[in-house]
Amino acid sequence: AKSAGPNQQRTYKSTYGEFANQRSRLLLDLKAALANDQLSVVYQPQFDASKHTVTGVEVLVRWQHPQQGFISPDQFIQIAEQNGLITEITDFVMRQAIGELNDHGLLYHDVTRVSFNVSAADFIGERSRERFARNLSQLPGDWSIVQLELTETAALLNLDSVRRVLQSLRERGVQVSLDDFGTGYSSLSTLRQLPIQELKIDQSFVRDIATNMNDAKLVRTILAMAKALHMRVVAEGVETSAQASFLIHEGCHELQGYLYAKPMGIMQLATFLRNLRSS
Ligand code: C2E
Ligand code: CA
Ligand code: CA
Ligand code: CA
Repeated sequence: AKSAGPNQQRTYKSTYGEFANQRSRLLLDLKAALANDQLSVVYQPQFDASKHTVTGVEVLVRWQHPQQGFISPDQFIQIAEQNGLITEITDFVMRQAIGELNDHGLLYHDVTRVSFNVSAADFIGERSRERFARNLSQLPGDWSIVQLELTETAALLNLDSVRRVLQSLRERGVQVSLDDFGTGYSSLSTLRQLPIQELKIDQSFVRDIATNMNDAKLVRTILAMAKALHMRVVAEGVETSAQASFLIHEGCHELQGYLYAKPMGIMQLATFLRNLRSS
């Protein structure tokens, strides 16, 4: 309101000050985290809609802060993106996951697709292709096992260099998935400029799929479109069997969510896959 008194002004300023302070604190802590082994990775399996076999895993970063405990990636990825730290996080996540999966003998046998989340900044600059190449050269075999998940927003932020880097990785077999699909504003013609093999339906559409007609229609449309473009569709955030039934019935290829498996560490993943194989 116009009549906001001096008190209100002060409140605003101090709140903003605290907010900015918290962010710079978090940034400093994140730099320390990268140097001090506080980051780790977890894996969430993805399942074939019809056969209930594991088709791949998505790698997700975790931060165990020494004082504040677990901090969600939703709280620090954006700050890392805005401050040039995200490429270091991407490097860490890729190397760590490839190393762990390989050490446990899971690559190419039990796990045939490993999806990494990448950001717009991962595609900026001359070195970005070399960076991906250096990380992926840790693989004991070919690169077609790797998939990069990027959001529409990230793709559009830097379309030319994103396309250039993706195309060169594509030549080495790397797959591309469009994450959080439906939440951005990209046009189909834009998307067609990128070498995309997979669409991930955002969990905000999956949530009410069995009860909300509009969401149901929207998901049907995404599935029809993906089919026309010969893309695979993965639904994320599947929590109930009603959601799963709907998605399977409508022809969604793969499902991911708490209904099937939560993100887990490498030891747990090895056990999970072993049990699945013997059952
Ligand atoms: P995302 O890529 O959309 O990942 C899906 C998020 O949903 C993950 O949260 C996952 O743990 C969570 N999830 C999986 N199944 C379910 C479910 O059935 N129900 C619900 N409610 N949630 C589910 P997480 O791990 O906290 O990651 C949050 C976001 O942070 C990710 O969203 C991604 O955008 C970003 N992120 C995570 N790891 C990385 C990374 O290594 N690099 C980058 N650049 N971003 C990352
Ligand atoms: Ca993702
Ligand atoms: Ca997503
Ligand atoms: Ca998301």
